[in-house]
Amino acid sequence: MGTIVCQTCNSTIEHFEDEKVTVLYSKGSCQCDPPNQQEK
Ligand SMILES: [Zn+2]
Repeated sequence: MGTIVCQTCNSTIEHFEDEKVTVLYSKGSCQCDPPNQQEK
């Protein structure tokens, strides 16, 4: 099973089917990280 984890707050956003155990770090898919926020 794969897991998508928030890059900012490190919380699990979503799970997806996968043969291996996979962790993907995502940004902008979590409420703690609004898309309009500018990066430094
Ligand atoms: Zn987050």
